Formats: sequence, structure tokens, C-alpha cells
Amino acid sequence: MARLGHLTTLNTDVLVVGASPAGLALSLMLLRSGVRVALVEHSTAVHDESDGEILQPAGQRILDQLGVLDGSRLRGGRTLHGFQVLERGRKLHDSDYRRLDAPYNRLLALPQRHLREELLASVARLPGFEHLPGYAVTSLSVRDGRCTGAEATRLGTLRTRIRASVVVAADGRLSRTRARAGIDAGRDEASVRDTVWFTPPAPGRPTRQVRVYRAGDGALLIHDTFPDRLRIGWTLPRGGWNDRASRGVAAVRRELAGIVPELADVLEEHLVSVEDVVPRAGFTALASAWVRDGLALIGDAAHTHGPLSVQGATLALEDAVVLHPVLLDALAAGDVGRARLAAYEQMRRPVAEALARSRSGRARAGLGGGGQAASLLRAVTAGVVNRTPYGGRATRRIAYGSSPVHVRTETLTGPFAGRPAGGSPRAGGVDRLAS
Ligand SMILES: Cc1cc2nc3c(=O)[nH]c(=O)nc-3n(C[C@H](O)[C@H](O)[C@H](O)COP(=O)(O)OP(=O)(O)OC[C@H]3O[C@@H](n4cnc5c(N)ncnc54)[C@H](O)[C@@H]3O)c2cc1C
Repeated sequence: MARLGHLTTLNTDVLVVGASPAGLALSLMLLRSGVRVALVEHSTAVHDESDGEILQPAGQRILDQLGVLDGSRLRGGRTLHGFQVLERGRKLHDSDYRRLDAPYNRLLALPQRHLREELLASVARLPGFEHLPGYAVTSLSVRDGRCTGAEATRLGTLRTRIRASVVVAADGRLSRTRARAGIDAGRDEASVRDTVWFTPPAPGRPTRQVRVYRAGDGALLIHDTFPDRLRIGWTLPRGGWNDRASRGVAAVRRELAGIVPELADVLEEHLVSVEDVVPRAGFTALASAWVRDGLALIGDAAHTHGPLSVQGATLALEDAVVLHPVLLDALAAGDVGRARLAAYEQMRRPVAEALARSRSGRARAGLGGGGQAASLLRAVTAGVVNRTPYGGRATRRIAYGSSPVHVRTETLTGPFAGRPAGGSPRAGGVDRLAS
């Protein structure tokens, strides 16, 4: 880093905004390919406990290919063998992951903190890595319509200007990088739900599955997680949590215990105040564009799925895997324009669109509505389908998606040959800042 008064400057190949699992996984792949990476993360804590934990087999396989799965699990995680959706005591959906091929014939409840720590430990020892923890990206640098880096600030006083050939926004569903680039988030306002999370201790009470209980106007997701806790997420229509909270914690406990009577004692002991839950707004979104000249969006910044879909973290890792060779090609060619980066969006956007379509299909079909008779019919159909080969195929599709993604391991060794001479592609000159 060079110092210009109180402003530090840094030249790199790729600037990754957000040390999310996807941002870290992309950094790891690029560094192993010999590409320099600067990673900016505005939080100093490794992570908030309530975000995406459940990893699908596709995500586990990616982490294994990157050599970080075992280390992450050793930090603490839980193996779960299925995913069920229940309504009025009946199973509407039942995916048994034990029907898949080993070793990824399971779901993993892996606290994001453990995954991030393991990934960070792997990237930190690689040459070409610049880590800026506690720095928030406060503006994007744009020249002639092309993103050329960003400015990051720590504690409002330390400023660093990062010059990069490409900026990758891995800064989540509320991505400011996306907003600064003028890209519409494509948020579906009708999808906005209140979501509250609660992780009570529950030693000796493993669920061994992810269960979603549909009840009234809400749904409750429950699974066990490290260390001897239950992770309980409750989604409600917008405003639904405030209504409940205003009626008091005893009423909340009664409603929850009505849905999961087997957990009444856990709720009684540990849900003693409405402050015991962590509120998080849930919504779905599909950004209008995922690439611009010198810029790409991955993970929730590009496409956000409801927390109960338990697929967001895996999809974000897949984005990183698909973007990695596209970036290598673009850097080798010295052309990081939108047309070259578009290969990434062409491969990944249809996946996000298909998920959005299946979500609205389920909503149109009234999953969760339609009264007892409709619920019984769905339960019977699910029971029959889940025992057939079709049920196995459906589980595989959720586990790996319709077009499985593999890490291009052959690109992970040796220095990246295509680095532009002199490293920084555009030293000098004044870039316009979009804040
Ligand atoms: C409550 C909840 C529960 C969920 N449960 C699951 C689940 O069980 N399974 C699953 O697959 N998915 C789940 N999801 C979705 C999942 O968390 C995300 O899809 C997943 O984390 C991928 O997100 P990401 O990689 O895009 O970024 P994120 O994980 O959102 O991380 C973004 C990072 O960018 C950083 N950042 C933001 N702005 C800046 C800035 N200006 N400068 C620097 N850094 C910045 C943030 O601090 C953060 O570290 C859940 C989501 C929520 C909200």
C-alpha cells in the first residue's frame, strides 16, 4: 500500500466487497490461480449468528473441492438427514437426503462463522491477498462507464482507494455496491415477510432434519445446530411480528407451542421476553443486471431467496465457482467489459429465475392454503411421490440444482499467466466516485 497523506492507495486485480462465504470462496480460487485480491469487509466481528447455516450437498462439494469442508466442520456443525414440510401434522414434502450418493448424502447445519473462519484462514496465507477488515466500501470509482475500483473507509477516518481491474459485489441482499452501480435490486415487494430467529439451548433434543411447519399465516423452520441448540425461524406477513410482540411473550409462546407442542418446555424456559428473538426482514429479489463493465454481482446481491428456501448460501457459492473462470479469461484477455463477464450471468441467471418461477408456482398452487381437504390431498400425494424414484430425483434436484457446478480445480495451481503487465491496469488518472 502507498500512502497519500491520510489516503492510502492499493492496486490489485480483483476487489471483492464482502467476506461472505461466496466472497471468500471466490477470493480463495482467484488467489490460487495467481490473481491478486483485495477483500473489504465492513464488519469486524466474524459474523452474526442468525444467517444462512444450512448447506446443500452442492455447497458441501464445492467446499470439499476447495479443501475447507472438513476444517469448517471440525469447528462445529451438525449433520441432518432430511427436509420436511408439515401442515396440521401431515407431511407435504419429505426429502430424504440419505437416498443420495455418499459422501454428500446429508444437509449440513454449519454456522457461517465457522465457514468464514476456515475460508479466511486459507486465503490469509496466500500471496497477493490484501485484507481490509472493518472497512466499508463507501464509493465506487467509475471511469468512462467502467468500474475501476472503490474507496473504502474505516471508522470514518482511515480511507483507502483501491484500484482494481474488476470489482465483485458479494455484499449481500442489501448490497450498496449494486445500488452505487445504479443497478435495480429487483425486489419483489409482495414477498416481504417478517422473520424472527431464536436459538435456544436444547441439549439432547436433536431434530436430525430441517422441518418447516406451515401454520396459519406463517411458517416455522426448525433444526438442531451447533452447539446443542435449536435454530428456530418464524416467517410472518409484514407487520405480523409487531402484532404478536405487542400481545406479549406469553401469547407468542402459546402460539408457537400450538405449532410445536413437543417444544413447549424449551419455549417456556428460554423464550422469556420478545427481545430474545432476532428480527430479520425476509424478501426475494432478482437484480436487473448482474454484470457491468468491470463489475459483477454474486450471491444475494444478484438474487435473494427467502430464508426458508435454505438454498441461498449454496447458490452464492455456486455463483463464485462459475464466475471464477470467467474472470480468469477476462483478465487474461485484458478485457473486463460487460460482454465478456456476461458469460457468468448467462449461466447463473436462469437458475435464479427458475427458482423464482417455482416459488410463484407454489404460491399459485396455494401451498399452505385451501383448507383441510387440500392439505390432505397434498400430504397423500407427497407421501406417494417421496417413495418413488421421482422423489429421489426431486431430492437430487434440490441438492445439486438442474445444472450441477464444479470447481475448475485445474485452474487452481500455478500463477495466473494472463495478468496485465505492471499489475494495476489503470494507474494514474482521476476516477469519478459514485457514492
Ligand atoms: C435470517 C436468515 C436465515 C437464512 N438461512 C439460510 C440457510 O439456512 N441456508 C441458506 O442456504 N441460506 C440461508 N439464508 C440466506 C443466506 O444467508 C444467504 O443467501 C447467503 O449468506 C449468501 O449471501 P452472500 O454471500 O450474498 O452475502 P452475505 O452472507 O449476506 O454477506 C455479505 C457480507 O458483505 C458485508 N458487507 C455488506 N456491505 C458492505 C460494504 N459496504 N463494505 C464491506 N462489506 C460489506 C457484510 O458484512 C457481510 O459479511 C438465510 C438468510 C437470512 C437473512
